[in-house]
Amino acid sequence: MIVHLTGTLRGTDRSEAWIVDGRLSFTRPDVDSAGSRAVREVSGYAYPGLLDVHTHPGLRRSPEALETSEIRRRLEILARIGVSDVRDSGGQHDPNVAWEPGLPRVIHCGQHIARYRRYERYLATETEPADLPAEALRQLAVSGGWIKVVGDWIDREVGDMTPLWPRAALKDAVAAVHEAGGKVTVHAFARETIDDLLEAGVDGIEHGTGMTRDHLLEAAARGILITPTVRQIRRFPEFAASATKYPAYQQRMLAMDAQRREHLALMVDTGTHFLMGSDSAEDVGETNLTDELICAVEDGMPADVVMAAASYDGKRRLGLPFWAEGAPADVVVYLDDPEENIATVRTPAAVFIGGHAIS
Ligand SMILES: [Zn+2]
Repeated sequence: MIVHLTGTLRGTDRSEAWIVDGRLSFTRPDVDSAGSRAVREVSGYAYPGLLDVHTHPGLRRSPEALETSEIRRRLEILARIGVSDVRDSGGQHDPNVAWEPGLPRVIHCGQHIARYRRYERYLATETEPADLPAEALRQLAVSGGWIKVVGDWIDREVGDMTPLWPRAALKDAVAAVHEAGGKVTVHAFARETIDDLLEAGVDGIEHGTGMTRDHLLEAAARGILITPTVRQIRRFPEFAASATKYPAYQQRMLAMDAQRREHLALMVDTGTHFLMGSDSAEDVGETNLTDELICAVEDGMPADVVMAAASYDGKRRLGLPFWAEGAPADVVVYLDDPEENIATVRTPAAVFIGGHAIS
């Protein structure tokens, strides 16, 4: 089967491409040598596969192990919406155990690293600051090159959100991971957390709601990758409502919610190197990267920035190939231009993942 792809190819100067035996080509195939094989014409707005850098196919919220079939179910949903690549941003299971041809490739980040009782129950491997560098290396060893550290969370003794780690521990851990060739991304909601992350030289920041203009400018200058998780940020009033015993925390979350759109605009203005992440897990059937992209545009991010970050710019930032001659094809095609009508990301007209036709 040969696919002839025409229309608007985003992230490349080319105006057409072919998929021959699952591989991308920018040279018209010799139709005679291709024999009588059918040519499927696909036309529309094409992107080189989507990238969700913050979805958790291998995360569970209980002590029992996940079935491989459940991990595969989550990956299959991602494939259907055109996600060819995932960075899982933490999970107890490496989703690659469930991988098969036609499913997204996954950069596993190991398990979330947090301090004792300072994150959601069952999710994290818990350690104290002196052991953070060693734990970081343990998670790196089972990862696909990135690890995930929880940078701040509610401290019930303080009654507010506070950083988990002293700066020195973070610095040592990031240095150890870099020395071993890995990268570190950190969950951070609070302003107080960010100076330490910048000082430690982290590679990525998840959420980043507390970042000031100066933080964002510095992160942009250093090439730090930021995942705004817009849909997750919209849940801050819900987080506040469930923390009635902690008024300072409630106030902080509501204040950040009130600034939500302004803060996203500030991220755009300061030249942030965006990655897009849905922060989905077992709920990926109900809410996934398509919702994240729609929420991001609704909250004021330019749709071209959103789509680039969710596909070719994001892939470039993670060092992943796209539109590569001869490579197994990753393509998602829409009939409408998602940069004009973002809701069209919900209904791709064609999807190819790693050379396999999904639809
Ligand atoms: Zn997450």
